[in-house]
Amino acid sequence: MKSLFFGGVHPDGHKDLSAGVPLAAMALPAQAAVLLRQHIGAPCQPLVAVGDTVCLGQKIGDGDGLCVPVHAPVSGVVTGIEDRPHPGGGTCPAILIKNDFLDTPCPTMKPYSHPEALSTAELVSIIREAGIVGMGGAAFPTDVKSKTGMSRTDTLILNACECEPYITADDVLLRARPADVLRGVEIVARILSPGRVVIALEDNKAQAAEVLKQQLKDFPGMELKVLPTRYPQGAEKQLIQAVTGRQVPSGGLPKDVGCTVFNAATAAAVYRAVYEGMPVIERIITVTGEGVKQPRNLMVRTGTSFLEVIAAVGGLTDDVWKVLSGGPMMGTAQGDLSVPVAKSTNAIVCLSSAQNGESAHPVCIRCGKCLEVCPMGLEPLYLYRYSGAGDVDALKRLHLMDCIECGCCAYACPGKLPLVEGFRAGKRTLKEGAK
Ligand code: SF4
Ligand code: SF4
Repeated sequence: MKSLFFGGVHPDGHKDLSAGVPLAAMALPAQAAVLLRQHIGAPCQPLVAVGDTVCLGQKIGDGDGLCVPVHAPVSGVVTGIEDRPHPGGGTCPAILIKNDFLDTPCPTMKPYSHPEALSTAELVSIIREAGIVGMGGAAFPTDVKSKTGMSRTDTLILNACECEPYITADDVLLRARPADVLRGVEIVARILSPGRVVIALEDNKAQAAEVLKQQLKDFPGMELKVLPTRYPQGAEKQLIQAVTGRQVPSGGLPKDVGCTVFNAATAAAVYRAVYEGMPVIERIITVTGEGVKQPRNLMVRTGTSFLEVIAAVGGLTDDVWKVLSGGPMMGTAQGDLSVPVAKSTNAIVCLSSAQNGESAHPVCIRCGKCLEVCPMGLEPLYLYRYSGAGDVDALKRLHLMDCIECGCCAYACPGKLPLVEGFRAGKRTLKEGAK
């Protein structure tokens, strides 16, 4: 079937490793390390001190500006506030909580008695206070996205594409809790008042599509759109083009073309915040890959270490090559598996040596394949060259900042150039230049 957006690639899905295994809840961790930066924006400041007792769901960090709070994923005692590795790279201060295994709920964590009577301002405030961020990996504060989309959205799109290979967390969520996701969409639609609401997923999720088709009978006004599978269809700009035919301009945002896109897990979190009074303290994670023994999806409390999550699926194989937070196209390699799960951690993908496509001698053979597959219409080979040279003018002229780091060019490159790493370095150069 014809692709509905420019470029893109069709990598092997590997989704069958985990998609058929029923969702299970992971045992609670003995200690949770709650990162104070789990969103795009300013980090939280701690609201608790060492020695404090905390309840499950208690707000333990918050801040001003572009910031959403973090909450205790277990009840217990605060034993430290220390730097921990961050799944996105680098380190970040974290609040360490020794679990008392009582799950004593915070008194503020209670459902709203008449959710249907809440105003849009109250709904946005609940979303913020629940600490909801884009849970497909973007981690942008959901309250801010909701506010900026008000009166500027004619089309609300639920992004259930999950186009990254290996990851099946949204697929499992949609099959297990379709009503939670659609009620979350309903709440967002109350805030944004769009004329059209589209539930978009790819045609490699036939079971989820069938479940949604049945469930949508209870949600008149929402339409299901099953798209031909192609990576990176789940990227906002590509999904908007696939669903509406509109192109977000260079440097622009979805609202510039009347669209707002929410991820499926984010919509479910909105539902839980409004209908159950539940902040983001857990999420579904796909733990998978040929480098792990028993791939599956787990419901995991935030702050649990990757090491414990991997142990819960039988541990790593002897042949493991790389552990990623996220998928193989856009994920971040992890050097320290004590790294805690964050709100936007949708997958832990453990690749084996058979997936090692790196080359000791990368070289550009000027084949032009990277130009054909770039969904943003960029020129990756030149961006890579000028990133290496630190040529700020050329990088601006070639729109490096439009690069969504999807990895299509690197995937297609026969010369095995580490293109995306080069672009990240180039973006750092541009940002430093701007300062
Ligand atoms: S990583 Fe950037 S340059 Fe490469 S294909 Fe994706 S958007 Fe284009
Ligand atoms: S795909 Fe790789 S080898 Fe081909 S032109 Fe682009 S960078 Fe060079």
